Amino acid sequence: MSSDDAGGSDGFLLLILSSPSGAGKTTLKNRLLGRHAELRFSVSHTTRSPRATEVEGREYHFVDPDTFRAMVRAGAFAEWAEVHGNLYGTSLREIADARATHRGVVFDIDHQGARQIKAKCPEAVSVFVLPPSLEELERRLRSRASDDDATVARRLANARGEIAHYGQFDYVIVNDDVSAAEAKLDAVVLAERSKRVHNAQLAERMLDAERSKTP
Ligand code: 5GP
Repeated sequence: MSSDDAGGSDGFLLLILSSPSGAGKTTLKNRLLGRHAELRFSVSHTTRSPRATEVEGREYHFVDPDTFRAMVRAGAFAEWAEVHGNLYGTSLREIADARATHRGVVFDIDHQGARQIKAKCPEAVSVFVLPPSLEELERRLRSRASDDDATVARRLANARGEIAHYGQFDYVIVNDDVSAAEAKLDAVVLAERSKRVHNAQLAERMLDAERSKTP
């Protein structure tokens, strides 16, 4: 994948969403995709087991570690990383399929994946979703599942590690209120679509048409 074939001048949007677990990123992502039919979710490959509500090909492509490693060796991934003991990766195929049918792709990936995508495609826009406070994050983590104290403590520690990488992202959206956070995410999409790089071809076509009238 290069910036020529993955983003930028043709207006194809590469939108990366990252956050610590419990910040509300999945809700924001689902709402964004609900409002923007022109954006497609990038379904990652993972070696972790499916959760009860997850469907193969919708949340993830679930594969065994040997299959995942074979894909790594074959150069099938745009990015991949180990997260919480499991392997996760975005296939080049997933991005190519999105390019064929949509005007942009949304990645739900961690900071390691965000870094790799940005290195290959500097035009990609990365958004970090931040909870309003660690106290609120802890409250959300405790309320959403029947996890024991040790699990909540581990997730909180992981969250601090993830938040430490906020500095590598283009935008930080504080999710204090989901409707407000949604509006901020929409504003990011709008701002990105309005960037010169996404509209240069149109402007140049106009100038070419004018030039050809007066040789
Ligand atoms: P979960 O197992 O809870 O669905 O996801 C755990 C973490 O892995 C989340 O932070 C999620 O953003 C990240 N993740 C999911 N898919 C990918 C991927 O393809 N690449 C990378 N680098 N991280 C991913």
